[in-house]
Amino acid sequence: MIDVREGGIWVYAERRGDSFLPVSLELMGKAREIADRLGVELTALTVGRDGGAGAQLRRYGPDHVLELAHPLLTTYDAKAYATAISAELRRSKPSTLLLGATRNGQDLAGRLAIRMRTGLTAHVTALELDDRQNLIGWVPGFGGGIEAGVSCPVRRPQMVTVKPGVFPLPESGTPTGDVTKVVPELSEKDVGSRRISFEPKGSTVDLTRAGVIVVGGRGTGGDFTRIERLAHLLGGEVGATRVATDAGWVERDRMIGQTGVITHPELALVFGASGAVQFTVGIEGANTVIAVNRDPAAPIFDHADLGIVGDLGPVVDSLLRALAA
Ligand SMILES: Cc1cc2nc3c(=O)[nH]c(=O)nc-3n(C[C@H](O)[C@H](O)[C@H](O)COP(=O)(O)OP(=O)(O)OC[C@H]3O[C@@H](n4cnc5c(N)ncnc54)[C@H](O)[C@@H]3O)c2cc1C
Repeated sequence: MIDVREGGIWVYAERRGDSFLPVSLELMGKAREIADRLGVELTALTVGRDGGAGAQLRRYGPDHVLELAHPLLTTYDAKAYATAISAELRRSKPSTLLLGATRNGQDLAGRLAIRMRTGLTAHVTALELDDRQNLIGWVPGFGGGIEAGVSCPVRRPQMVTVKPGVFPLPESGTPTGDVTKVVPELSEKDVGSRRISFEPKGSTVDLTRAGVIVVGGRGTGGDFTRIERLAHLLGGEVGATRVATDAGWVERDRMIGQTGVITHPELALVFGASGAVQFTVGIEGANTVIAVNRDPAAPIFDHADLGIVGDLGPVVDSLLRALAA
């Protein structure tokens, strides 16, 4: 059995330009708590063209900030990032590496796990330590109904990707820790893709910070016009189940749940969603859930503070009329 105290905890802090994604900062807060419990050090790892940006991470409680800086790391490239990071993992031997379950984070985590020949628990929605102080990542799984606790007791680093919004965003505080810049040994052969042009996607929605979310599922039949109107009148955002995003009824950023995002709204209004565990895990943090479904046995009602059994159409219409009035 490997001693979990060997090596510290690392958080991969994912950059967008010169700032860091909220999920990376959320992970810093949780990782600090775990590091303190285990009595190990916390390192924030950041990758990019230049050093410098990493200094911001000192406000989130690390013992160290490690910047991997190289011109070939300017844009995210799975092969180049995995080459640079795995070299550092082999050198420093941290016990744990936490990444955000973003598209790039998931992509990178899989490659790193293979290179390090270690285990990866993906899409985690809760984290705890077992009695041997191994990390247990909780994942809703196997078609629904169960939550699986997954650990990696025999290989290091133990790797986990965590959904955005699972942990609270910590307050930034007094800077701590030192910053080390490392220039990895990389050449063109380590890069798997070439950037021809870069067109940033238009505005992206962040449901993890929305106060009100109006969710539509398969029961909407694909008509989100009134769901959008309701969300607008309530000053909220539109959310959706995977069925709705897979069908292209709304953009994928609005998917809630295990594959989508974990939300914490004051109010979630859920129309025509059955309540599969992979979806409900994304609204468990809501203060109040109101569900409308024509099936009285739909599992969504087990997660709702208020349930309305009936066709969603007339319910949405009367809410729209009441709000307009
Ligand atoms: C690994 C994995 C990850 C997944 N991740 C996610 C995820 O992140 N998010 C997610 O949402 N799903 C996810 N899923 C899919 C999930 O298991 C469900 O299939 C999905 O959530 C179902 O979507 P739905 O509730 O819209 O559709 P359905 O399950 O088909 O439910 C539709 C509901 O609408 C009701 N209804 C129909 N018409 C009306 C009407 N006119 N008025 C009122 N009610 C009506 C029906 O009674 C039914 O309950 C994942 C699955 C797997 C295997």
